[in-house]
Amino acid sequence: MGKRIGVLKKKRKFKKILLCDLDAFYASVEQVDNPVYRGKPVIIGGRPEARGVVSTCSYEARALGVRSALPMAKAMRLCPEGIFLPVNMNRYKEISRHVMAILGSYTPEMERVSIDEAYLAVSPGEGEQTAIAIREKIRHELGLPVSVGVSSNKLLAKIACELAKPDGWSTLWKEDVKTRLWPLSIRFLPGIGPVTEKKLNRLGVKTIGELAVFPLDSLQHLLGKTALNLHKYSKGEDDRNLETTPSLKSISEETTFARDIKDSKEMKAALMELAEGIGYRLRLQKMKARTISLKLRFSDFRTITRTISLTEATDKDSMIFQSACRLFLPLADTFPWRLVGIRASGLENFTQLSLNRGEDKEKSVTRVQDELRTRFGKEVLYRAQRLFPDSNDNPSSKNSFS
Ligand SMILES: [Mg+2]
Repeated sequence: MGKRIGVLKKKRKFKKILLCDLDAFYASVEQVDNPVYRGKPVIIGGRPEARGVVSTCSYEARALGVRSALPMAKAMRLCPEGIFLPVNMNRYKEISRHVMAILGSYTPEMERVSIDEAYLAVSPGEGEQTAIAIREKIRHELGLPVSVGVSSNKLLAKIACELAKPDGWSTLWKEDVKTRLWPLSIRFLPGIGPVTEKKLNRLGVKTIGELAVFPLDSLQHLLGKTALNLHKYSKGEDDRNLETTPSLKSISEETTFARDIKDSKEMKAALMELAEGIGYRLRLQKMKARTISLKLRFSDFRTITRTISLTEATDKDSMIFQSACRLFLPLADTFPWRLVGIRASGLENFTQLSLNRGEDKEKSVTRVQDELRTRFGKEVLYRAQRLFPDSNDNPSSKNSFS
């Protein structure tokens, strides 16, 4: 009996690592926002007359030879029918926040690599299931394609993802190294750029398999310190840990007015829009806020902040709006204003137990709104003022503030 337990103990199970990477991210966002762009070559980058280069392009454009970092002028020659767009970074960042919130809802162990890419660590039995669920959820909620690689370390997860692109998922395990990793070009390995590739090619090393059997000391002579890591990678070994991002401390949004404003009504409209944005992000992250802060900047750039604590944490637009209005009220004649912002802090995680049963009217309206916003951006929404007409004229809250 004791012996068997010993064997079980030794056979410790390791977490599965997922790499999630959106496909042609900027171009895909444009195609979701503008249905007429779907199925067409969409090319995003700088202005050709300013010697701009391609930042991202859709797979339809890739099929015509367009690539990232290609001069835009050249892309226009390759693809005269293409849809050429400037980089709309604010929109991509907004979508990225939603993507990361969705990814973060599967595990707290997440390393964000870039605007559209993150590693996740999940329980040993949950790698494949999570990959499928993530792809479905991001497709359903945002309309975007994401590729996912599943493995036991970052290197193999990343390569599995590359192999699954576009819009797929795959696994790559240690036992697949000889059959599936070794035939690949050395360019699949992290740290091998065009220069190192050339050096190795000159020695007859083109595939990862050829690198794996190349004598380590000769490799060290050629490449120095990086040789050891590359040699490990070529055998599918990678002991890098996830550099998990620190947990969220606050959510804030602000607006700089096109011209300084004096009208309290305009200010309230801005506060409503900010409150909706913050409420939406709180709900996405399954968070509630205990503290709401208002930031005001005057035309002379003087900036003040006012804060209020709530007795009960909230993720409701109306409560965030009312709190901000309450903070604004004593400042109503301090105009002209240049900027306004709201920050939600004192964040608490919560898990919604019954999603549909017994939810109040505001909650169900909000849920529909959130789905619309996630899919089509905030422009599509009715102003919540129309939905909660009372809250506009009644900024003082009902016993909710301490
Ligand atoms: Mg990507």
